[in-house]
Amino acid sequence: MPVTPRPTPVTALPSIAADVLVIGGGLSGTWAALAAAQAGARVVLADKGYCGASGVAATSGPGHWWVPPDPDLRAAAIAGRMAIAGGIADPAWMARILDITWTTLPTIADVYDFATDENGVVQYRGLRGPEYLRAMRRKILNHGVRILDQSPALELLADCNGAVAGARGLRRQRHEAWTVRAPAVILATGGCGFKSRLLGSHTNTGDGHLMAAEAGVPCSGMEFSTYHTVSPAWSTMTRSMSYAFAVYYDAGGREIPVPPGDITRTLARAMLAGPVTCSLHRMPDDIRERLRRVQPNMMLPFDRTGVDPFTQRFPVLLRPEGTIRGSGGIRMADEDCATEAKGLFVVGDAATREPVAGAVSGGGAILAAWALSSGVMAGRAAAARARGSGGPGDGPVTPLGRAGLRPARHAAPVDVSAVTAAVQGETLPYDKTIFRRAPVLRRSLAVLDGVWRDVRDHLDGYGLSTAGETVQAREAAALTAVARWCTRAGLDRAESRGMHWREDAPATDPAYARRLSVGGLDDVWARFDGDAPQPIPSQTIPVPEAGAA
Ligand SMILES: Cc1cc2nc3c(=O)[nH]c(=O)nc-3n(C[C@H](O)[C@H](O)[C@H](O)COP(=O)(O)OP(=O)(O)OC[C@H]3O[C@@H](n4cnc5c(N)ncnc54)[C@H](O)[C@@H]3O)c2cc1C
Repeated sequence: MPVTPRPTPVTALPSIAADVLVIGGGLSGTWAALAAAQAGARVVLADKGYCGASGVAATSGPGHWWVPPDPDLRAAAIAGRMAIAGGIADPAWMARILDITWTTLPTIADVYDFATDENGVVQYRGLRGPEYLRAMRRKILNHGVRILDQSPALELLADCNGAVAGARGLRRQRHEAWTVRAPAVILATGGCGFKSRLLGSHTNTGDGHLMAAEAGVPCSGMEFSTYHTVSPAWSTMTRSMSYAFAVYYDAGGREIPVPPGDITRTLARAMLAGPVTCSLHRMPDDIRERLRRVQPNMMLPFDRTGVDPFTQRFPVLLRPEGTIRGSGGIRMADEDCATEAKGLFVVGDAATREPVAGAVSGGGAILAAWALSSGVMAGRAAAARARGSGGPGDGPVTPLGRAGLRPARHAAPVDVSAVTAAVQGETLPYDKTIFRRAPVLRRSLAVLDGVWRDVRDHLDGYGLSTAGETVQAREAAALTAVARWCTRAGLDRAESRGMHWREDAPATDPAYARRLSVGGLDDVWARFDGDAPQPIPSQTIPVPEAGAA
């Protein structure tokens, strides 16, 4: 249904002055807020949902990269990760996050009850996600952080020198507009899951990526956005530990041989040919027995439908994660997680994780350690910037938001659900993202460019009738922008590396052992490190004939 623009009945709240504004209250945002507050800053944290239950870690059991500070152990851990990172990771960044995680994680023992083993030794590596996030909320409140729940940020503000100076957003449930003035803003908005129904990811729509781009900051590694998780076909339950014991069957009931390290492509091929079923009968009894305690929500979809996954086969699919457990994101400009835009920092899944994960996923250890450590680095640096800047200031500011908020041409009805569906049509199908080919990528880019033009030119988010509709309009713009960068990066990396697979270029080319940045809003550009920019105006990319291979 087309949306009819009407004035937004929101009340503008008085502007809040802060030293540091954190946008996003998941793992990385709460760690950033804590570090900034501990460094003496006045911190405001705004989350789209409820900080403490929001973000992808709140439904999982994040294991951290946890290696004792023994030089040999650390060197071996780093060498092991470098060996699989596709030549684009950085051992120095890895060493830093190992160190920060080791010294920082135990500091929440006052609010989080760490498990102990049978000998009474405290186990720091793996945490229970829901309790972890609740504890982080408690911890930051104890340190005086002001939390704005249900308060999505919509756009950044810039001061007269072009530095980022705060943000604006909406309090969804109260139809109020908030403004925070701060000389340092930390983007902690998570990855972009393209609304694929990955558990806990419905708020991860790439808003931070779009805000960064509007401040002139590019992304990097967006081609590494093809991580997929197995889930029961009827459920969003993406707790994947149990599938280490899975046996899969094709449409004819034959067992599918899964070569180690190639599970996603193997299953995706089978799923493109027909339904795939799974059985967990190989899971050892002691793990089955512990499963309900360790991952209580894992069994819910089975209990609800009366399926016994240990004796019965059940249909499964691969749930795309976009950039969430991919490794691409907003590019950092220095070792404090600052970006190229003055006053703007980026942490966690919103940032590129190439330095610590390279071309492969860092899920299972690296990403949680990165969320924590990047939060600590950026939180401290943001507090230092605030100290040196003389405070939030009260001069004039310019709102930077464009697409989805203010139409570039004239307001006209834009069907926001159709925008999201169009983006999903290019980002979720396995034959477009897992098995990439240049002609298909070009076609996707042309489709997405058309969607972008419509959103940019006509979608009047601020003119919509409810705060919820305004937020959805902005999300639609962000999803479109991120989809275009992922697609363009997939096209320019004309080789296969890590999780990026090109059917038409299956070899890894040593010439491409470099990071690839993408940016731009109207004209998307791409550039390998060390190369000149390649500004192909995306509107002029020819649309190949449908069906061209
Ligand atoms: C199923 C699963 C299991 C995982 N297990 C592990 C593991 O064992 N080990 C490991 O290392 N990693 C793991 N990961 C990855 C790890 O959980 C993430 O890297 C980490 O949680 C990222 O934290 P984050 O704060 O950057 O992002 P998120 O946790 O996604 O938080 C982002 C927050 O930003 C908010 N937000 C978004 N847009 C806006 C906006 N416009 N305004 C305000 N707020 C906004 C969201 O509401 C959300 O609260 C797992 C991921 C998944 C999906």
